[in-house]
Amino acid sequence: MKVLSDMHMHSNNSFDAENSVREMCLGAIEKDISTIAITDHMEAPEIKLGDRSVFGNMIKQITKSVADVEAASKEFEGKLKVLKGVEIGEPMHEPKLTKKAMDIADYDFVLASIHNVKDSEDFYYLKYNESNVPALLKQYFDELLDTASNADFDSLAHLTYPTRYIIQRTDINPELDRYSEVIDNILKALVDRDKALEINTSGLRTIGVTMPDINIIKRFKELGGKYVTIGSDAHSVSKLGYGIEKGIEIAKTCGFDYFTVFENRQPELVQIWY
Ligand SMILES: [Zn+2]
Ligand SMILES: [Zn+2]
Repeated sequence: MKVLSDMHMHSNNSFDAENSVREMCLGAIEKDISTIAITDHMEAPEIKLGDRSVFGNMIKQITKSVADVEAASKEFEGKLKVLKGVEIGEPMHEPKLTKKAMDIADYDFVLASIHNVKDSEDFYYLKYNESNVPALLKQYFDELLDTASNADFDSLAHLTYPTRYIIQRTDINPELDRYSEVIDNILKALVDRDKALEINTSGLRTIGVTMPDINIIKRFKELGGKYVTIGSDAHSVSKLGYGIEKGIEIAKTCGFDYFTVFENRQPELVQIWY
């Protein structure tokens, strides 16, 4: 039986997303998705800025996100499973504040990600040229290794995040082969700590490949990876579920017979039907 889950999406409790939790739920039901995780942004370095943060008060927003999810779980019971997630950005930049964010709720599912390296802006805002790309990618993967090795999370989100903007906006080839050693170490850290790797399908609509791509997912399996989660990273109802079936197919191609959903932060395996 075909069972679709989308384990990464944002409601309007994230600074950059459009629709309410309720609207996301209705969209998921319409798209025959049976489980979703609402994973609103918690950017750890922003917490200390409180109301002065450009992204608003994250703690207030996450508290609201969790309350919205709890209400939606009740409203859509029997029709849709709505999981309480969070996407913790840069958890190692401010570990104490991250811990505070983690204590807001009993999450079902925690994604960890890096959108900006230390003392820099989100990769979305950077300008890329031949000379800064290698140093930026090196710093990114080094920080991601620290995150994979030490942060408290369930699945590592969009492992190749910076490549999305480099590929979209420049002719520069990110040459990920150059970083194969540190990427291997990231994957090994996930394996050693029984963490999941996310197959982020938003790349399918922006750069034509998942983040990470099939080669890295295959390598994760080779190194003993057990858990993959699949998420669209939708910031609106229209993109919810985008590429999820393709992501499941890719997981199967890479040797996974199951994908994973997390409830109460415990992995639950869902058999792939292909
Ligand atoms: Zn993200
Ligand atoms: Zn996201």
